[in-house]
Amino acid sequence: MSTQTDVIIVGAGSAGLSAAKELTRLGIAFVVVEASHRIGGRAYSEEIAPDVWFDLGCAYMDVGPDPETHIDESNPFVDFAVEQGAVVKEYLYDSHYIRNGRSLNESEMNARERFYIECQEAVRRSVEGGDDCAISDLIDLESPYATPYMDMMAVTAPKDIDEASAADFFHRVEEHRTFNTLRGYGNLVAQWGSDVDVSLNSKVERIDWSGKGVVVKTSKGTIKGRCLICTVSNGILAAQHIHFKPRLPDWKMSAVQAVPMGAENKIGVHFTREVFAPEDSGYYQVWSDSAQGAYVDVNLMSTNVVTVFIGGRFSIWMEQQGQQAARDFAVDRIADIFGNDIRQSVGRSIVTAWVTDPWTLGSYASALPGQYHQREFLSLGVDNKLFFAGESTARFCGFCHGAYWSGVRAAQEASAALK
Ligand SMILES: Cc1cc2nc3c(=O)[nH]c(=O)nc-3n(C[C@H](O)[C@H](O)[C@H](O)COP(=O)(O)OP(=O)(O)OC[C@H]3O[C@@H](n4cnc5c(N)ncnc54)[C@H](O)[C@@H]3O)c2cc1C
Repeated sequence: MSTQTDVIIVGAGSAGLSAAKELTRLGIAFVVVEASHRIGGRAYSEEIAPDVWFDLGCAYMDVGPDPETHIDESNPFVDFAVEQGAVVKEYLYDSHYIRNGRSLNESEMNARERFYIECQEAVRRSVEGGDDCAISDLIDLESPYATPYMDMMAVTAPKDIDEASAADFFHRVEEHRTFNTLRGYGNLVAQWGSDVDVSLNSKVERIDWSGKGVVVKTSKGTIKGRCLICTVSNGILAAQHIHFKPRLPDWKMSAVQAVPMGAENKIGVHFTREVFAPEDSGYYQVWSDSAQGAYVDVNLMSTNVVTVFIGGRFSIWMEQQGQQAARDFAVDRIADIFGNDIRQSVGRSIVTAWVTDPWTLGSYASALPGQYHQREFLSLGVDNKLFFAGESTARFCGFCHGAYWSGVRAAQEASAALK
């Protein structure tokens, strides 16, 4: 690792790697330092069964542009996957709703759909009227469909609706198509980033920007740079796991605290036999009057894997209960859908724990009620020397391809500052 460079990039997730590639394109010297033993950050795939990949973080490749905001930032990872010959399939599955072990009938399905649309409309009216309250203030919590709505929101927001800003959620909603890749989104990002020289196991402990450039102390030594691109999560910034000297300005820290990390976790369960019929594949919401519900994806791309998603406070609590409890919860919800016999074919499982992951301290960031306006400060540089990238700063915030584009933007800002 060089000890002197133009730009120091902190973090080798999607944002840090795209910043590095953009600086390479611009002919600017840089050093990338990454605390973990691998690149990719929240893009990470593990083998759940021989040659079957499970994404612990991002799995769904969303593709813009967003017609509402006219943002045209396509997903470069879809093109990369196709170039590499990876199997890519559009997410075009049916949705299923199971309450107390029984599928909703047609009139219940219509009532549920009406309720979800009413919730969406209530959020739109409130935000367009200039308010930014908690989503829970806007919906009918007595509705029989409030429970699955809240389960879905806890995973997507990813916070319970009393802690989620309506404006932040509203502005994240886009029209898009979604794709999955058999090889795993995490593997794809790691393969795409493999040509970037990264110093692994190099935790940044201190960033001194008091002088002309920046001096960065890592667990592997000190590096001097002319400027820096910081791509760590809002969780790491809020916890002050990196000591900035002088400390970051109050306006920056207020924004970081106003858009804290949420909790989304996944439990992947592999089945050892072909237990699913082709029509079983797809998206399920399962809930009951007596137990916590979940949001479930079944057998996408015929992998014999079911992914059970949990979010918000329940997800934080489940991390504390441990892997076995999470696996039991997931298998119970899958049995609610397919019956108890399916338990006999349960194979290996993978349980994520993003809130306690020391390099993220949460899943992805979203604004607290009343704080959406703080988002714009997350992407702003400080002193023409510290630049910020990463999913929380992105226009497609919370997404892997959003993080990618934020890295490109920060690299261009750094390049302009060096002139
Ligand atoms: C459960 C879950 C599901 C998701 N699903 C999707 C999805 O389906 N589609 C989608 O597009 N997105 C999804 N996302 C979001 C997506 O994964 C992230 O937005 C994206 O990967 C973030 O990239 P990043 O570069 O901003 O941050 P990261 O990937 O977190 O990269 C930051 C890097 O900084 C490193 N770091 C931290 N502290 C230090 C330090 N002190 N010194 C040096 N390095 C440090 C970290 O190790 C990490 O590698 C999901 C995320 C989660 C958690």
